[in-house]
Amino acid sequence: MQTALHPEFAGTADGLRAEAILRKCVHCGFCLATCPTYQLLGNELDSPRGRIYLVKQVMEGAQPTRATQLHLDRCLTCRNCETTCPSGVDYADLLDIGRRVVEAKVSRPQQQRLLRWLLREGLPSRAFGPLLRIGAALRPLLPPVLRRKILARPAPANGRTPWPQAKHPRRVLLLAGCVQPGLEPNINPATARVLDAVGVQTQVAPAAGCCGAIRAHLADQSGSLADIRRNIDAWWPYLTSGVDGPPVEAIIMNASGCGVTVKEYGHLLAADPHYAAKARRVSALTLDLSEFVAALAPALRGRLGTHAAAIAVHVPCTLAHGQRLPGRLEAVLRDLGFTVAVAPQEHHLCCGSAGTYSVLQATLATQLRDRKLAQLTRLQAPSIVSANIGCIQHLQSGTAVPVRHWIELVDDALFQ
Ligand code: SF4
Ligand code: SF4
Repeated sequence: MQTALHPEFAGTADGLRAEAILRKCVHCGFCLATCPTYQLLGNELDSPRGRIYLVKQVMEGAQPTRATQLHLDRCLTCRNCETTCPSGVDYADLLDIGRRVVEAKVSRPQQQRLLRWLLREGLPSRAFGPLLRIGAALRPLLPPVLRRKILARPAPANGRTPWPQAKHPRRVLLLAGCVQPGLEPNINPATARVLDAVGVQTQVAPAAGCCGAIRAHLADQSGSLADIRRNIDAWWPYLTSGVDGPPVEAIIMNASGCGVTVKEYGHLLAADPHYAAKARRVSALTLDLSEFVAALAPALRGRLGTHAAAIAVHVPCTLAHGQRLPGRLEAVLRDLGFTVAVAPQEHHLCCGSAGTYSVLQATLATQLRDRKLAQLTRLQAPSIVSANIGCIQHLQSGTAVPVRHWIELVDDALFQ
């Protein structure tokens, strides 16, 4: 694709990056076939190719409008288009640039500004857990869009150790996540118990917080980079000298939405002379939990009780497309002895959760959720598992079938 950037962007970091990405796109349109918003809306401007054109026009000097902003807002950042694209177009990077530029030029209605501010400042905040408990108590009084989101489940009273205390020579760091401990308090302890059972100690750095994805999704690049630098500072002693023992061997993500972001820290801070090398090291050590458990499966398998029923698996886009690990989760579960069932159609399509998307684009998100659940419930499995807190909560809001993190099922099988 030929480009002629407006002088405002020519030679800037954003301009150079956008130009390189735009020039890779050959307009073939293959990506339209796998784009969820194009499938729902049928409008080229709600497809990857259409959004690429919109960003190109803005970078070439066209004045963006509220309509431009809306078409970019409707993108789920599921990155299915990147998996499909034969030319290797880094669509998500281009969208990030386009959203930031448009955000600076197009004013949003006051109500949207307030909602986006609440999400940006509220979700990554340490006050989220206490606020969630207040929200749960006031749930009947909340607007429907928030009521659907407040599904906080108490940690099951299963008599298991809340957090294993044994020290092991093998150690990993776990990102606890900003919303996960409040919404699904069993996931992190279940992760620590499963790893402990095969001789791996799980540590959490108390000063780490949101991975940076929430602010990035809301076009707050400087806030996102501040989150990222804070996490690197919090993790660095664990990677180098070690804290309360030897250094950790890996940084584990049990939320694939966080994992895709942390794996990109090296890229996101490449131009920062103080953090570039550290960010590269953090990204290189980061693994999704399914990647780490894959190597432990032989040791774990013999420890697990029986689990005869099939489980329906929803693979998050952030795992399949963002981290480019299609099939990994299903393979690990099969290796552990579970019977895995996957949706016969549209296995690759987004469930509509997509970070804050299910709040900001509730209608489209609900349509995608129901479409996904229709496929998953057809499998008639007694439970659905996934690998990302957003997908778990979003799917659970539309079905009575329990939707859980896959590591919780492994934990259950370990303590049967
Ligand atoms: S990221 Fe997903 S929703 Fe956005 S354009 Fe690509 S396929 Fe469509
Ligand atoms: S598949 Fe890739 S090259 Fe083809 S139109 Fe989509 S982004 Fe461009």
